[in-house]
Amino acid sequence: MGLLLASTPVGPMGTGIGGGVELTLRNLVQELQRRGETVDVLAPAGSMLPAANVIAVPGDAHPFAQNDPWDAPIQLPTDSVLARMWDWVRRHQHGYDLVVNFAYDWLPFYLTPFLQIPVLHFVSMGSLQASLDRMLAQTAVRFPGTLGVYTRIQAQSFAFTQHQPQSFRVLGSGIDLSLYEYRADAGPQLAWVGRIAPEKGLEDAAAVSARLDREVWVMGKMQDEAYWQRIQQDFPTAQLIYTGFHDTTNLQSRLGQCQALLMTPKWVEAFGNVAIEALACGVPVISYARGPHRNCRHQETGFLVEPDNLDSLCQAVAQVPALRRDRCRRQAEREYSLEALGDRFQDWFATVRRT
Ligand code: UDP
Repeated sequence: MGLLLASTPVGPMGTGIGGGVELTLRNLVQELQRRGETVDVLAPAGSMLPAANVIAVPGDAHPFAQNDPWDAPIQLPTDSVLARMWDWVRRHQHGYDLVVNFAYDWLPFYLTPFLQIPVLHFVSMGSLQASLDRMLAQTAVRFPGTLGVYTRIQAQSFAFTQHQPQSFRVLGSGIDLSLYEYRADAGPQLAWVGRIAPEKGLEDAAAVSARLDREVWVMGKMQDEAYWQRIQQDFPTAQLIYTGFHDTTNLQSRLGQCQALLMTPKWVEAFGNVAIEALACGVPVISYARGPHRNCRHQETGFLVEPDNLDSLCQAVAQVPALRRDRCRRQAEREYSLEALGDRFQDWFATVRRT
């Protein structure tokens, strides 16, 4: 008996397609194993998750939900990998004492009452679509305590929490700090890290680069090539240096050389894992104060600026050299360790797991 963690169906683990939830899942597996738990990971074929027992499932990946309209119908690809994954859960559920769903998709919530095994759902984004909101609200009533989120503000983005305020358990995030090297010194360049996709607002980092004549190192999965090309055309004088999607070792090494991380999201981020990765390297975070972006301390380990205000963003960049990089690292150590993350998840598991 052990735990089964069911990954997102948007793509194989390790490719970056899944965004921050990939990192959370990977970190969680590592920490649970360290504590002696038996953990299997159910994930799309092609997933790379060193040191974990991965059950690879073939099938079609799911498209992203981020840019769909609010009332979009529920859609599944022809040979849905998610449908196959949850069919696997149905057939093997008696071999586990708990399954944790990491997919931000309607299907696993719908299937929960049909299963005998306890199911917990880690919800990795804020409110995006009516169909999923409705299903989450029903799950919260029928299976209290089984919904988890990164942050309280993410939870509040779901309108039903006004009537059902206890619907979500806040689990936060955490990283393996030993993988992130503290760098006391930095070059003049700024960093921007994330999926290259409209909701991430890379264009505002391009505007800062053009206005301040500063290099911005861009790292992350190229999710929307047309969006990237548009930014090149709209900001011809911006110095965006795109180096691709890096593994954690390379990501932290490049990130650590930068003076600050710019976070310019156009949506309410569920968490923004890249902020804590930057802090761990000693890199201050300049972020729009949109949604839960409270993961740096204003004027101490970064700046929280008015969303979409480029003047404020540029002013914050000018003030960064006054911040102390050792305080950034210390904040990451205090608030975002893997041990703390493991405690919060294990406490949550204990509320439902069968023994
Ligand atoms: N990331 C990475 N390599 C890169 C750029 C990003 O591994 O070159 C990872 C990063 O570590 C983080 C994730 O991509 O875990 C982005 O997660 P975040 O929560 O910031 O945003 P999301 O993509 O989930 O919206």
